[in-house]
Amino acid sequence: MEDDVLALRAADSDGMAPITGTITLEIGDESVPALLTASLTPAPFESLLPIFRAITDELTTRGIAREAAAGRSLSCRAGCGACCRQAVPLAAAEARAIAALVAAMPDPRRTQLEARFAAARAALAAAGLTTVAADIAALDRTERDDYGRRYFRLGLACPFLEAESCAIHPDRPLSCREYLVTSPPQACADPSDASIRTVPLAGRASAAVTARGKAVEGHGTVLMVDALAWAAAHPAPVPEHPGIDLALTTIAELPGRRADAA
Ligand code: SF4
Repeated sequence: MEDDVLALRAADSDGMAPITGTITLEIGDESVPALLTASLTPAPFESLLPIFRAITDELTTRGIAREAAAGRSLSCRAGCGACCRQAVPLAAAEARAIAALVAAMPDPRRTQLEARFAAARAALAAAGLTTVAADIAALDRTERDDYGRRYFRLGLACPFLEAESCAIHPDRPLSCREYLVTSPPQACADPSDASIRTVPLAGRASAAVTARGKAVEGHGTVLMVDALAWAAAHPAPVPEHPGIDLALTTIAELPGRRADAA
């Protein structure tokens, strides 16, 4: 794995003037060489999401391998959507990306998904859980746990959950990619179950993207079920930062990680 070069490439955006360079990600005790391609011109944060999905997939692959070496195998399987009833936090850029993904779908699929989002928000409102839904990451630990428990008790499936599988698997949010368990699947029926054992990761791109997004545009997390409504109410800001700068500063915020220009 050490000899592989991780390809990190931003999505093409209007007027993108790409530059490619090598960087080294320090992941746990390992150095991972990567080829980073992003724009020299200002780029929307969402165009960088492919980079952070790739980093997350690398981190989870390594985390799963460490767990396997310790005799613990992954319990997560297609067809098990227990965790898809949790309050899923998205970075602002991810919320816009989810909204754009749905908006680009042909009818009747788009209408069907929009109806699911609306129904989920109505259920949250009926349960009195919308007041803090704007930024769950801003809550303290006790408030967040309480909110998460109350949310989960509603049994509200993510709008993208179909036959207990993710209908947008390649485009699923960073926090969904990061949540993996080696404990028995039955334990996930209660997210506060102390026996749940998640796969430890050397860094969390979801936290880095949220923190950097908040720094550059002022928004923290958005709940998955609020993504469409939130994106409609918050037009995308005019990009101010070159994509390459935004990518490197976000990579530098991966908890405990470091990216050095090679
Ligand atoms: S986006 Fe997919 S993986 Fe994430 S909560 Fe929804 S259905 Fe589950």
